[in-house]
Amino acid sequence: MTRFVLISDSTLSYDYRNFPLLDFLPCSPSRAIPESIYRFLKGPPPLAGPNGELINAPYSLRKLEAALLKKYQRHEVVVAHDDYLSNFIKDDTEVIGVTTMDPLGIGPTTMSYYALMGGEMDAWVRRDWDALIDKVNRARRGTKAKLMVGGPGVWEFTILRDEIEKYNFDFIFQGEADDIAVELFSEISSGNIDPSIFFRGYMSYDDHFRKILKKDDLFIARGTSLSAYPKLDEIPQIVGPSTKGMVEVMRGCGVGCDFCEVTLRPLRYYSPERVAAEVAINASAGNRNAWLHSDEIFGYMHGNMFEPNEDAITDLFRTVMSVDGVESSNPTHGRISIPAGYPELIEKLSVILRAGPRNWIGVQTGVETGSDSLAKRHMPNKTLPLKIGPDGSWQEIVWQGVYNETRYYWRPAFTIQVGQEGETEDDYWDTISMINKLSNSYVDGRPFEFTITPLVNVPLGRIKSKNLNRGMLTKEQLAVYYASYLHLAKMAIRDGLMDTRGKFFSRLGTGALVSAGGFMMLKYVERLASKAGVDIEKVKRYSVPATGEIHTLAAMARA
Ligand code: SF4
Repeated sequence: MTRFVLISDSTLSYDYRNFPLLDFLPCSPSRAIPESIYRFLKGPPPLAGPNGELINAPYSLRKLEAALLKKYQRHEVVVAHDDYLSNFIKDDTEVIGVTTMDPLGIGPTTMSYYALMGGEMDAWVRRDWDALIDKVNRARRGTKAKLMVGGPGVWEFTILRDEIEKYNFDFIFQGEADDIAVELFSEISSGNIDPSIFFRGYMSYDDHFRKILKKDDLFIARGTSLSAYPKLDEIPQIVGPSTKGMVEVMRGCGVGCDFCEVTLRPLRYYSPERVAAEVAINASAGNRNAWLHSDEIFGYMHGNMFEPNEDAITDLFRTVMSVDGVESSNPTHGRISIPAGYPELIEKLSVILRAGPRNWIGVQTGVETGSDSLAKRHMPNKTLPLKIGPDGSWQEIVWQGVYNETRYYWRPAFTIQVGQEGETEDDYWDTISMINKLSNSYVDGRPFEFTITPLVNVPLGRIKSKNLNRGMLTKEQLAVYYASYLHLAKMAIRDGLMDTRGKFFSRLGTGALVSAGGFMMLKYVERLASKAGVDIEKVKRYSVPATGEIHTLAAMARA
């Protein structure tokens, strides 16, 4: 008897040919990328076990599974592959739990593509979500199984509330559930939801980023009698392998950027031994890379003024790399000020991680802007323990960070935001200046390695009105997009084939598609920007020195 069937949004369980940034592929509009190319770049479907279980499952599902196994037996809880739902969803199934990240396609990256391409809200991520829920509803037809969705994408259902009736959800759960999963699933199953534990509604934010609660019977959230988040010792250890070998090392951040929700969550750090125990589960299933998730790895057990705790960070990675079967590891996110100010830490980590020309350490970094005034206004602590002013301009800090990262074989994937509150024309040109300088810089004769993805802040009112046609981006914002795609096309051509993994012909196919895609995207943005009146030649030349190359911080500051 399978009481509880756990399923992943299918876009979260593919490996996207393990190519950097291809994980964002489902965010693209479906009419812009033909289905055959989309399916090829997604890579083969995730592996299924003999009964149809998912072999590697998204980490959040693994946590939920582990939490339920504290009370229920192994045969009562399954993480199912969505091609084999009928093997598990039967008359006695009580609850189907589905996790999702960007179900309706209104996440920041998806929005950025709409801003460029306009049209209907038809991103691949939404098409795949609709197909999955259709499949789940067909599988549960005629059974008493209730359908509950959860995960970080739940906020989208609160925004487009009038569009979700068609999915026939019984409940939408919002929040972290590690400590209350047993109560949640058993009460949903019985239909007796205890109001002293659960709130029937959801949490949102007002215009001043203060939490507010909204009543809505379709939603369930943690009640006010509970702590708002589970404590560290209430979070269980996963019992099965996770997609891409990802495990968590901490929750929360605390740096305090004013646009970021993560910073409102309490800080909870896992010990290196605890992280290693989960990595060992992945390694024993054949996952040779340990992907360490946090929203800010350099904040791991940080010291005063967000000074990096070098011993704790190196100990963490050393412990992970000593796990049997682990060959490589990298963090998910980290801020740039630490590579800028602590090159010896990056060098030490590179030795531990065996970084080199065939093993770049990828890390996502929100660099957000090239403007000092915007950085000080929206993310004053992101540079800590460095300070804008005494330690250089924001651009100089970023430049020094990428210099040290490239030197020690780290490759940041930057995001920048356009449309921030108070952003001026000068701020946009500062961002273009930063991108161009980085794109033309070298260390030890090698070009700086980084990608840059522009994101647009779309007001919620505009999302609700679905007014997402072209024309969302101003002339200056298009200029920033153009500078970004100019660099991305350069990277795609330079690294397209080198960064692919697997068999020769699939590498060739992926490399060729990525390189061609980068070039086509550049030409598309160029046409759009020219039409909007952007001076393309000015963007190309802006802050690029006459020699075309920057090798030192002083030269970068002069350019
Ligand atoms: S450093 Fe990153 S995770 Fe932390 S508050 Fe700022 S944006 Fe959020």
